[in-house]
Amino acid sequence: CGIVGYVGPQRAQDVVIEGLRRLEYRGYDSAGIAVVHDGRLAMAKRAGKLANLEKALVEHELPPATIGIGHTRWATHGPPNDANAHPHAGGARRVALVHNGIIENFAELRARIEADDHVFLSDTDTEIAAHLVELQVASGVDLATAMQRVCQQLDGAFTLVAIDAEDPDTVVAARRNSPLVVGLGDGENFLGSDVAAFIEHTREALELGQDQIVVMTRDDVLVTDFHGNPVEAERFHVSWDL
Ligand code: GLU
Repeated sequence: CGIVGYVGPQRAQDVVIEGLRRLEYRGYDSAGIAVVHDGRLAMAKRAGKLANLEKALVEHELPPATIGIGHTRWATHGPPNDANAHPHAGGARRVALVHNGIIENFAELRARIEADDHVFLSDTDTEIAAHLVELQVASGVDLATAMQRVCQQLDGAFTLVAIDAEDPDTVVAARRNSPLVVGLGDGENFLGSDVAAFIEHTREALELGQDQIVVMTRDDVLVTDFHGNPVEAERFHVSWDL
């Protein structure tokens, strides 16, 4: 439902939670966050209001990471509980991923890798994408290439955002039939399902087109198609007030 991504000098947890709060108006049933710090993934997710997640974060503090992703979920596949809340991780907990929309061919993709003893921890259509992206990076390609290859296999509507514990500088996101905007900062960059996610930090934005992927570091934003060919994304200035 709501998506936030961040990479820059600030504490990712603060930027992500604040972004999720700005997206609360969309409605949601669960919320979660993942960050990368010291080569490891740390995640927290809770059913219910953002306040439940914030309480969990007080009890189990996340490390002081500067890269992170967050999600507020509107359940379509699987009940709203902690396990089904996003982010979802791959089997080795190397990649964390959040998703808006519906992956229509998830059951068939999931059955294929369950046959190889992959264990799934949720009922969502989303978790398969986390496993598939993680399998790709584990095979040696970078996160952007991994996302391209996985998107080529997915049917349906999706905004996907992923981070990789072994690449602490990069957030990668993709979209098909579901919105995604990039907030362009100075030495930091943002992602959102809409501009409300980052409006407090920047009003310079890029709108991703259909079947596009964005690879985002602190200083660079590269937009490509699902085959890695660079494309021109539409830049705009957010002039309205929230
Ligand atoms: N289909 C996914 C799920 O049920 C994502 C729902 C959403 O867009 O929040 O978990």
